[in-house]
Amino acid sequence: MSYIIPQLKDSSLFISRAYVNGEWIEAKSGEKFEVNDPATGMLIGTCPECSAVDVEKAILAAAAAFSTSRKMLGRQRARILQRWYQLVMDNADDLATLITWENGKPLAEARDEITYAASFLEWFSEEAPRIYGDTIPSVIPEHRIITVKEPVGVCALITPWNFPAAMVTRKIAPALAAGCTVILKSPAETPFTANALVELAHRAGVPKGFINIVTAMDNTAQVGKLLTTDSEVHKISFTGSTNVGRILMEQAASTIKKVSWELGGNAPFIVFDDVENLDAAVDAALIAKFRNSGQTCVCANRIYIQSRHYEEFAKRLSERVKKFKLGPGFLDGVTHGPLIHKRALEKVDEQVRDAVFKGATIIAGGKRCIELGPTFYEPTVLTGMTQDMRLASEETFGPVAGLFSFETEQDVVKLANCAEVGLAGYFFSSSMARVFRIAEALNVGMIGVNTGRISEAASPFGGVKQSGFGREGSKYGIEEYVTTKTITFGGL
Ligand code: NAD
Repeated sequence: MSYIIPQLKDSSLFISRAYVNGEWIEAKSGEKFEVNDPATGMLIGTCPECSAVDVEKAILAAAAAFSTSRKMLGRQRARILQRWYQLVMDNADDLATLITWENGKPLAEARDEITYAASFLEWFSEEAPRIYGDTIPSVIPEHRIITVKEPVGVCALITPWNFPAAMVTRKIAPALAAGCTVILKSPAETPFTANALVELAHRAGVPKGFINIVTAMDNTAQVGKLLTTDSEVHKISFTGSTNVGRILMEQAASTIKKVSWELGGNAPFIVFDDVENLDAAVDAALIAKFRNSGQTCVCANRIYIQSRHYEEFAKRLSERVKKFKLGPGFLDGVTHGPLIHKRALEKVDEQVRDAVFKGATIIAGGKRCIELGPTFYEPTVLTGMTQDMRLASEETFGPVAGLFSFETEQDVVKLANCAEVGLAGYFFSSSMARVFRIAEALNVGMIGVNTGRISEAASPFGGVKQSGFGREGSKYGIEEYVTTKTITFGGL
């Protein structure tokens, strides 16, 4: 299906290069890779296929700039981040257009992402002047002890395609606020949004070398290897799949880098019999499951309904899902866009076919939408789910809600906690005692109680188990980019 891409108001925000030491550059080899619109498969543009030699330049630039960034006052860093925040908000329409073009999500969702992405710039502009140490009483009467927080150094940041803007600002903003310099390895699927954001950072006055971007597709593993092993890089922050996180963690071990990992999820969404407003639970499930066509790490992946409400919940949820409008994200009224590529769609389709083969029933959607193109999958609801189905244990990353029935609180807690990952969890209950019991019992990093929305800049974001460790956003986000130095004064 073809459609007209809106023109950018500021066409200079469309940049097909990498960014090193304050300049937009080509790869030394001159090689490029293609970036395609997931809705149509049509070419959007090309980006440099950076290799080790380009990454080395970026590391050198970031290392040289660190001698300046570490001395800058918190208040100065704050002002730059505030200016960047304002430019992102002023250019929100263009940034949203780039997101929809390269990621496929509907334009309204892309605009929401820009507001969310900008909120990290604002939040960390406020944190930058407030990076405090401690004064600590000593056991030795002549001693006084203080701690100071220092920027960790050059940081390598690796982000995924599902939030092309928010994953970038959620990492760069705390790094700059702390006084670090960064090299961003942006995703091959969505490099243009990251480039536009960094061009705005440049216009906001971020000094050269503070932010560098390397782009790559075929050379991704080579670029990742260098970023995770070079001794000038002191910190790795990665958001992506658990499998890639495992590889990067092994590589980073050789030089013992400070690391944080935001990895895969498989969130349980539980509705208890005592819930008073079933429609509110349906609304929340629609958001938690189908936002970004199910391509978020905190998406509800396993929906457990206590038996009394099971049939009614399934009926109400499927009625709402059937009203979704699937199509290219730029078209009016479209609520759900394509999946990022055919590989993602194959996985979703295989999980649905596996569930049906093992006895599940499709009550909404359930197939590819070939008329729209090879990456469109109908928003789907399945009932009669059982634990032996792939959907019960694998992250779907697609628009499929599998509904499991359960009988007791003990049963559902056990099921919810049996995943190897533990990023987010959601539940609906009207009993105060149960709310506390379940919030404490679920083994995940973030919980939504009677809500499907859990992400904002003020709130710590991160997981447990194989979802990784470290927290982004919030007052804790900055901790990932500083070290604590202890200074003991003697002879007093
Ligand atoms: P991915 O792991 O394949 O890729 C993520 C990023 O890592 C991309 O930029 C990719 O190019 C890069 N990459 C891949 N292999 C690499 C290597 N060997 N060295 C260096 N970089 C490498 O994940 P994806 O498919 O792009 O994203 C989806 C996954 O990300 C899902 O599992 C999802 O749950 C997870 N995710 C987690 C969070 C979170 O905050 N926990 C947020 C968004 C997405």
